[in-house]
Amino acid sequence: MTDDRYIRQEIFEPIGKEGQEKLGRSSVAVVGCGALGTVEAELLVRAGVGTVKIIDRDTTELSNLARQTLFTEADLKSGDSKAAIAAKALTRINSKVSVEGIVGEVNLRTISKYCTDVDVLIDGTDNPETRFILNEFAVGEGIPWIYAGIVGSEGMVMPVLPGETGCLACVFETAPGECNLPTCRTVGVVAAAAWTVASIAVGEALKLLTGNRQDIRRGLLRIDLWRNRYDSFDIGSTPRPDCPVCGKKV
Ligand SMILES: [Zn+2]
Repeated sequence: MTDDRYIRQEIFEPIGKEGQEKLGRSSVAVVGCGALGTVEAELLVRAGVGTVKIIDRDTTELSNLARQTLFTEADLKSGDSKAAIAAKALTRINSKVSVEGIVGEVNLRTISKYCTDVDVLIDGTDNPETRFILNEFAVGEGIPWIYAGIVGSEGMVMPVLPGETGCLACVFETAPGECNLPTCRTVGVVAAAAWTVASIAVGEALKLLTGNRQDIRRGLLRIDLWRNRYDSFDIGSTPRPDCPVCGKKV
């Protein structure tokens, strides 16, 4: 492999050779290996992030193929875990990246095992409970994380820089009960919307990792790919003093 692999990123002035080297020394954990997580992990690996962990407890099923890159029809037959299949696929894309596929569930007990020693955490989950666990852990540990969510054709992205921006609990206050919310299982999901949201989330992570912190989005972005809505909100741009999670740190 020649040194040309990252040439287009290095020519892009805000990244440059220096930013590319920073990426090579960086470590990111992608929590979840679905429509968001697979795209996020692939973008990070192609971009040359040094270490990428991808965490998921599930195996593949046929309906995954409509939106989850990294999986193929052949993988369905293998019966292997998504994390293991994704890790293999990612290594085939870029053997220079240290890829770790972790088969497991991120919960209160496991999060400190799976998500430490990383520079950024990226949301590839599909439920609010895990997101709130991620949020509390990341803010407590001072690890930046990128919230990303998708249902139907609507998605949201918000970078959380502990002590600097608001966090998920500043915006949504409490994890809503799953039964009250529409999910991808009940209202479906448009892959193009999921990939858009995943791309925006990774873009924010790349700004952080390459030393372009000043360019990171402050506050919540909400998109609806189908209805052509792209809305930026101030909410989440600063920590809320009475936030139960990050208020303590203000
Ligand atoms: Zn907060």
